[in-house]
Amino acid sequence: MTDVLESTNPARPEDVIGEFPVADAAAVAAAVARGRAAFPAWRDLGLDGRSDVIRRFQEITSQRKDELARLIVRESGKAIWEARAEAGLVPAKVDVSLGAGMELVAAQDVGGGARATYFPRGTLAVFGPFNFPAHLPNGHIVPALVCGNTVVFKPSDQTPAVGEWMLERWREAELPDGVLEVVHGGAATGQALAGYAGVDGVLFTGSYATGRAIREATLDQPSKILALEMGGKNAVVVLADADVELAVAETALSIAASTGQRCTCASRVFVETPLIDEFAERLADTLAGLRIGDPMDEHTFMGPLVSQASFDRVEKLRATAREAGGERIDLRVDLPAPFVGPALVRFDALRQSHSYQRDEMFAPEAALYPVAGLEQAIDAVNDSDYGLAAAVFTRDRGRYERFVGRVRTGILNWNKGTIGASGKLPFGGIGKSGNDRPAGVTASLYCTVPQAHLESDAGLDPALLPPGFPKP
Ligand code: NAD
Repeated sequence: MTDVLESTNPARPEDVIGEFPVADAAAVAAAVARGRAAFPAWRDLGLDGRSDVIRRFQEITSQRKDELARLIVRESGKAIWEARAEAGLVPAKVDVSLGAGMELVAAQDVGGGARATYFPRGTLAVFGPFNFPAHLPNGHIVPALVCGNTVVFKPSDQTPAVGEWMLERWREAELPDGVLEVVHGGAATGQALAGYAGVDGVLFTGSYATGRAIREATLDQPSKILALEMGGKNAVVVLADADVELAVAETALSIAASTGQRCTCASRVFVETPLIDEFAERLADTLAGLRIGDPMDEHTFMGPLVSQASFDRVEKLRATAREAGGERIDLRVDLPAPFVGPALVRFDALRQSHSYQRDEMFAPEAALYPVAGLEQAIDAVNDSDYGLAAAVFTRDRGRYERFVGRVRTGILNWNKGTIGASGKLPFGGIGKSGNDRPAGVTASLYCTVPQAHLESDAGLDPALLPPGFPKP
């Protein structure tokens, strides 16, 4: 008998969204085989032919954004204001991928008959996380299809209905059969798909632990490209000359957006010593004022965590803050699981050695540390296994510039929080956050293989033959 995934609404557990058959190894192999069979025709359709289908998908998802937003709320618990923003990013991805993304892999002609072209890799596996169940897999799928690959998509096992919704829209756009396959399931399905020999690459967004497991599953397949977008332990730096009102608002947003469940959420805040008490008080007031509740309510800032299992994991890590030497400030404690309140944890010393201080929590909570100045702040940000996002608040652009290129993250913002990012730029991190294959506009680079050519229609020129080589 086939196993099924039951998808429920984290804000209302009695609301069952649907049941989805779990793909076993044979079902994964069949999906990949359909993808491989569809590949030559999709590749040979050319960019113009593919664009017609992809533009239709853009049109349909643009018209049905609100329906998608409501499904995201229902299945992930994300507040409706954020789900609307996410749904809007789905059609927007098409312009970036067909435009700036394809410019990165346009044929290069360096003269003298020397050229490079870029061809699709084949059949790629896309893994989605639960926290952006539409936008993030879409951020791999659209560029992969634009470049001429076929895709086997495994949505998060927490958000299979959003994955099915996306597939339906592609079908409506008349994407040929086999060009996009969806398989559902958790770790076992994911392992079967990542490790399957017929998959030419794995485009993954999720946690470090899973990224690591995928690398392990593909150790003997060195030519399989892995684009790993993983977790973060992101940092905000507030220097003494910062605009405090701005820094407080942006830091609170960075801590608590998506109930702290964004890869770019801030969980470490370094404040120059003269400002730390005032900053901590104002940040705590702002976090305490966030409206938490029904994520479908237009006035709600944040909904629940994605699941009871997530809540249990977060509670365990939260309980270790004191053991790590921090002073906990819980800002709401009256909420039913899996809802959680925001919290701050103050540390007097800058040492970040405890797992509480180093591991990703994925909840609306941050540690606050004093720093003596700019150089110490740079070292503090870099004292992390992750390297995804950082933000610096100062009125002095020169002080911010000191961080550029010295802070080891893929994203570094000035007077904007860690969660701000442009879809027109690369998006990714280093260390445990990623393997230097950023998504965003640069996704086209990992979706293609360069091919170099020396080309001539001039016939043989005997003058160019080396000495000692017989002339014709
Ligand atoms: P996850 O790693 O649990 O799951 C991601 C995907 O991998 C899902 O489809 C899941 O079913 C699958 N999976 C789980 N275990 C697997 C295994 N052993 N082998 C193969 N596949 C497996 O991540 P999540 O909880 O859905 O998402 C949250 C994580 O994603 C956080 O760590 C967050 O920081 C990260 N994230 C990163 C980015 C980024 O762009 N860097 C963006 C969003 C989220």
